[in-house]
Amino acid sequence: MSTIKAIAENYQTFNPAAYLQNNYVPPRADFSNPDSVVPWKLKCLADACASGEIGGQILVDIGSGPTVYQVLSAFELFKEVILTDFLEVNREELKKWLHDEPGAFDWGPFINHVCSIEGKGEPWQEKRKRLRERVSRVIPVNVHQPCPLGTELAPGTVDALVSSFCLEACSPDYPAFVKALQNITGLLKPGGHVLMIGALEESYFLAGEAKLSVASFTEEMTRKAFQDMGYVIRDFRSYTMPESMKVGVDDVKGISFVWAQKKESN
Ligand code: SAM
Repeated sequence: MSTIKAIAENYQTFNPAAYLQNNYVPPRADFSNPDSVVPWKLKCLADACASGEIGGQILVDIGSGPTVYQVLSAFELFKEVILTDFLEVNREELKKWLHDEPGAFDWGPFINHVCSIEGKGEPWQEKRKRLRERVSRVIPVNVHQPCPLGTELAPGTVDALVSSFCLEACSPDYPAFVKALQNITGLLKPGGHVLMIGALEESYFLAGEAKLSVASFTEEMTRKAFQDMGYVIRDFRSYTMPESMKVGVDDVKGISFVWAQKKESN
């Protein structure tokens, strides 16, 4: 049985390059395959963002890791975007991409794909430029703290949150996941939106030397956590990992997508 402290120690060996290679190249990120998992995630996010109901001043991505695909639709709807991660190596990886430095991961195909879903016919490079301009900060986060962003952002000041594969990947069990959800919920304004992508029934994943344990739970438990926290679930989708996506880097069985809105009275 793991603990929050043991998980935090284990993350010190997390290798961003290996993590990107495990999850963000084909077959998992194959834009020519309709069953591929990354296009599924991007479509869920794009559909919620196309609803016209999400927008405002500040968008925070909780536990960005070394990735930006999760904000490619949502960032357009906010004046300021804040990326966050627990690890300095991931924050550095993000800054490398934001500053277009050599060795940065190529998010071009992901951006191009989101442009094609959005169907506005704009060159993808324009979206890349806008995202780089819109990100104002890359800051530390700890979802196990009552104020996950410390003094950087006070409770109740954020219009929307995005988070992908973070809460379950740093929590020892379901109660710790629920508590972490409560902590990040505190950042949101009443009526604010959350777009969350999470692993279903996963017990571990690999990132180079690191083998990280994951809090394993079901689709129903994900839904219940949001409902119990006082959210209205606006959309909920799930994806079953096909055999072709099982590439030996984790034991994830499926993925959930939740679009939830914090009740005005919370
Ligand atoms: N969001 C990325 C994605 O979609 O691939 C990365 C997800 S990765 C599985 C989990 C992330 O959670 C890592 O970047 C890790 O640094 C971060 N993390 C670990 N402990 C954390 C904590 N206590 N609070 C917030 N994030 C944490």
